[in-house]
Amino acid sequence: MKITVLGSGSAFSSPTRFNSCYVLEAAGEKFMIDCGSDAMKALQKGGVDLSSVRNIFITHMHADHAAGLPAVLTAMHVHGRRAPISVHIPFTQLDFAKTWLANMFIYDERLSFRISLEPLKPGVVRLGSPVELEFFNTRHLQKYEKCAASFGIEPVSYSVIVREGEKVFFFSSDLASLDEVRGRLDGCVSLVEATHPNLDEVASLMTGGSGSVYFTHIPQELEEGGEWRAELAARFGVKEFRSVSDGQVIEI
Ligand SMILES: [Zn+2]
Repeated sequence: MKITVLGSGSAFSSPTRFNSCYVLEAAGEKFMIDCGSDAMKALQKGGVDLSSVRNIFITHMHADHAAGLPAVLTAMHVHGRRAPISVHIPFTQLDFAKTWLANMFIYDERLSFRISLEPLKPGVVRLGSPVELEFFNTRHLQKYEKCAASFGIEPVSYSVIVREGEKVFFFSSDLASLDEVRGRLDGCVSLVEATHPNLDEVASLMTGGSGSVYFTHIPQELEEGGEWRAELAARFGVKEFRSVSDGQVIEI
């Protein structure tokens, strides 16, 4: 399994990190997880051949995870894509996604390829090969429940485990707390977000030694020289902060 990190930045991205965007390749399947607002740039910089991406999974509908979708689909059309693509959207916002794309003038009958919008629910998605993705609810969006309800929206957000036989990869996406995913990290390579957990939680994963954990979704404060990095070292003795960078490839 090959994971290419295209966007390891926080919601604000940065001069060196794009919003959330990952391309995975496993058993001949190539798919994206998240398509943040600057995904088009991230894909170009990463030299990713869009024609071979057959599925896009969106972990939740925050802009830094989803807003690049219309631009990426439009670019696929401009590049003459023929193969159909499935875009998996948190199921409570599937109707929004249909309206959103329509309002961006992205219509199947005008494109060189078919888009299938699929409702993404907790559970397993199999990709017609030995590859499966299992999505779990997270509490990341719970804070919006009351506001969202006034618009008839149920906020849904996911973490995901990708399995290819014995090879297992875990991506937390955004969380309310690391406690939500701590039990899932054993025996797999994990990418865990570093923006929302507190420093005690981050430090505990760095020093706890549960599986191979790397941090992503890196805020400015955790960059080299940032104030949280200094605090990690001073309060918890964390000398090496294991973060991924844009363009990094992880092989499992
Ligand atoms: Zn988020």
